[in-house]
This record gives sequence, structure tokens and C-alpha cells, in this order.
Amino acid sequence: MPEDQLNVGASVIELRQGDITTVSADAIVNAANSSLLGGGGVDGAIHRAGGPAILEDCRRIVARIGRLPAGQAVITTGGRLPARHVIHTVGPVWQGGGSREAETLASCYAGSMELARQHGLAHVVFPSISTGIYGYPVEKAAPVALAAVRDFLVRHGAPARVGFMLYDPHTYQAYASALRALAAASGGIR
Ligand code: ADP
Repeated sequence: MPEDQLNVGASVIELRQGDITTVSADAIVNAANSSLLGGGGVDGAIHRAGGPAILEDCRRIVARIGRLPAGQAVITTGGRLPARHVIHTVGPVWQGGGSREAETLASCYAGSMELARQHGLAHVVFPSISTGIYGYPVEKAAPVALAAVRDFLVRHGAPARVGFMLYDPHTYQAYASALRALAAASGGIR
């Protein structure tokens, strides 16, 4: 098995390094903020590349539900992106680890996958949520992210493909090492 992927039942978790706005998938996930009106980091890149249709959908959602709490997810069009949809989720701001950050982060991944499943989306690609502007140390976030995705796949058997598109080599290495540890701990789940 290549070291950048882990099979979980009939599904696969894959790690890649690069720019998530270039990914062709059923959905890419945005590390948004609660306003859903755009921001820096991956959020800014997604809105720039996807164009105004994404923001229009976000405004409609905000008009209906107000601010999106951390740990929850919503879905919009992908606009001009190669991805058909964007799933927007709000990660926790790192506050030292004692404010249920891991639980909130796991909920971002599970909630995004649940939305994908409800919409029948087979291929979803995540960025490293919360490890940029929100300050979550990537060595701590990577195992939480991967375990949340693995647990969801064990429980639900879908989506078929779950990717991580990691922007820089340091982030990629942190996820690769967490994936090796997860595979060793779970005996390479199949
Ligand atoms: P947060 O506010 O949740 O911390 P950021 O966007 O600041 O979100 O950072 C989350 C991660 O996304 C960081 O690892 C950052 O380097 C990465 N990132 C930034 N731009 C892109 C992009 N175009 N594609 C993939 N990942 C990106």
C-alpha cells in the first residue's frame, strides 16, 4: 500500500500536496469563518478561484441560519472551480487545547462528510482545517483529522474517496506521519 493512502473498508483516504482550488472532485472543503463571507488563507483562495456564485450561496445561507458555529458545515456550489461543490466548515481557534478544540475539529470533518454522504458525493477533498490563521498546531491537528475521517468511514462506508490537499511540505509531512501511525495502530484496516 502506498504510504500516502489508507484503505478503510471499500473507501480510501489519500494525501496530496498542493492547491485545493485546482482539485476536480465532487466537493472540496473550505476552512471558513463563522461569517461565511470570505477571509484569508484557503477561504480567500477558494472564493477568488470560484467566483461570486459561491458568495451568493453563502449569503443565502447566512440569511437563513445566521452565523455558522464552529464544528458545523454547509454546502454551496463550486462556482467556476473544477470541484462541483464547496462544503464550508468552521474550525476551532486554537486556545491551548483545553477548550474542546479536538472535539470541534473532529466535528468539522464528520459534519462535512455527512453532508457529502447526504448529497451522494463520492469524492471529497479537505484542506488542513484550523492549522493556518486559527493556529491549531498541525502535529496535533493531523491525527485528529485523520481519525475523524477514518471513524466516519468505518461507521458509514462512504464517501468512497476522501482526500487531503495539503498546501506546504511541513503540513504534508505532519499528515503523512499521522497516517502511518493510524495505519499501524489499526493494522491497516481494510
Ligand atoms: P484556518 O483559519 O482554519 O486556520 P487557513 O486557511 O488559514 O485556515 O489555513 C488552513 C490550511 O490551509 C493551512 O495549512 C494553509 O496553509 C492551507 N492553505 C492555504 N491556501 C491553500 C490552498 N489554496 N489549498 C490548500 N490549502 C491551503
